[in-house]
Amino acid sequence: MLHPPHQPLPVAVVPPQRAPAREDEAGPWHAEAVCRRDEAGLFFAPSKEPTAARLAREEAAKRVCARCPVMVDCREHALLQPEPYGVWGGLTAAERRVVLARRRRREVELRKSSATERIARAG
Ligand code: SF4
Repeated sequence: MLHPPHQPLPVAVVPPQRAPAREDEAGPWHAEAVCRRDEAGLFFAPSKEPTAARLAREEAAKRVCARCPVMVDCREHALLQPEPYGVWGGLTAAERRVVLARRRRREVELRKSSATERIARAG
């Protein structure tokens, strides 16, 4: 059973929302997920959660992620799906959007620079 490591949640505990995906859907990493039984409801926001409570809950979830042996796999899964809600792989939904935006910019830059190289070689 997961509990916030240092303090009780400042919001009402909600039922678990992280439905365990089937292993063939999420990959073998899912079986080792520390949050597999998220009774404390750390990873997803209850409705109408105040900002301070959300920040505290997300930090508690991130602390759980930090000791999870499958954090990298989980993070990539959440980025590739992409998962729109909750803390996955130590990142909030907003942080994942930033990572995805950076990746898209990097891909565009790489495409531009390889096109420029092809033109220079042909030229
Ligand atoms: S990294 Fe975090 S969200 Fe992902 S499986 Fe581990 S504890 Fe769960």
